Amino acid sequence: MVTRAMIVEGLHGLGIGPGSIMVVHSSLRSFGRVDGGAETVIAALKEAVTRSGLVVMPTHTLCMIGRPGAEPFDVHRSVAYTGQIPNVFWQQADVLRSLHPTHSDAAWGDRAAALLADHLHRGPVGVDSPLHRAAQWGGVVLQLGVGHGSNTTLHLAEVLAEVPYVQVPYRKEWGDVALMRTEDGRVEQVPMVNGERPGCSSGFVAIEPLLRDRGLQRETMIGSCRARAIPALAMLEVAVELLRRNPAALLCDNPECPHCTVARGLIRQPGR
Ligand SMILES: [Zn+2]
Repeated sequence: MVTRAMIVEGLHGLGIGPGSIMVVHSSLRSFGRVDGGAETVIAALKEAVTRSGLVVMPTHTLCMIGRPGAEPFDVHRSVAYTGQIPNVFWQQADVLRSLHPTHSDAAWGDRAAALLADHLHRGPVGVDSPLHRAAQWGGVVLQLGVGHGSNTTLHLAEVLAEVPYVQVPYRKEWGDVALMRTEDGRVEQVPMVNGERPGCSSGFVAIEPLLRDRGLQRETMIGSCRARAIPALAMLEVAVELLRRNPAALLCDNPECPHCTVARGLIRQPGR
């Protein structure tokens, strides 16, 4: 049985302490059994960084106009598809959530409002988005039982490296516009800023050996959960350098992936 104290100790082992900023991607199941479930994991994350730090979690909803079953994004109601821990987290009274119909983030800590401000007018994971600010403010990406396939910050590397596929949608049939419910109950159509559309992330696992080689990935076990912390800004530098050398480096190998096949078509091979 994993306890709050075990999680806090594990986080300290990864170099996380008071004042740390972390963007957390998580699988509750990966811990085995946690005494108190998702609430306990969240309490441990907050205890480790204190209010002078920041706990940040992506609470993505992809409320695109053409996605089957999609409802307008409602910051107070929309369930995230990023897992059980983020869905408990964003609903807590002391946690803020950014207004963004596809890629909202939730945050806790004294600087949460500043981190999340004005997300709607930034690219979803673009320049000066909450995840970019978390990186610039010295944050780490914390992976609790998940790998780089869900490392949202790497979409920012695609933007910074100006890969030719940043406007290729994850699914073309979902359309160009997202839907959002305003505070007074109206439904607004929200175009994607700069046309940026975070696509498939299955191929992001290719970054792992590069991070390991440079000693940028700290790891520990918390119960059966493999926990990893990577400094976000250094990780972005590695990823941008990789993408400038080979813009296809973070695309997946699935020949049927509708995003990566279109993206590859836009990348001119060297020598052509
Ligand atoms: Zn793909």
